[in-house]
Amino acid sequence: MEDLKNAIEREYDLDNSEDKAAYDEMLNEVGGEIKIGNLTFDAADVVETMDPIAYRCGFADYVDNLPERWECPICSEAHEDEDAAKYCCQEEEEEEEEEEE
Ligand SMILES: [Zn+2]
Repeated sequence: MEDLKNAIEREYDLDNSEDKAAYDEMLNEVGGEIKIGNLTFDAADVVETMDPIAYRCGFADYVDNLPERWECPICSEAHEDEDAAKYCCQEEEEEEEEEEE
């Protein structure tokens, strides 16, 4: 009998463009547009450029409040729950002990 494959945890990462985009969107919602004269900047761009350390720290705080992400090892579908991901495509095996009497 083959062992079941474990779910894969997908950590949030600023190098992941989708994660970065979601974080930038949140910053823009909070910070809005920054206007200087007739120029307009997004809050996320301003923070990232002017204070990259604060930008990265803010990302760490941001992901602390997000649910865990787990990926099915078979079909790569994302789940919030480790077991849900593990048993997405795999049957949970019940251990049956056959005893001879
Ligand atoms: Zn699956």
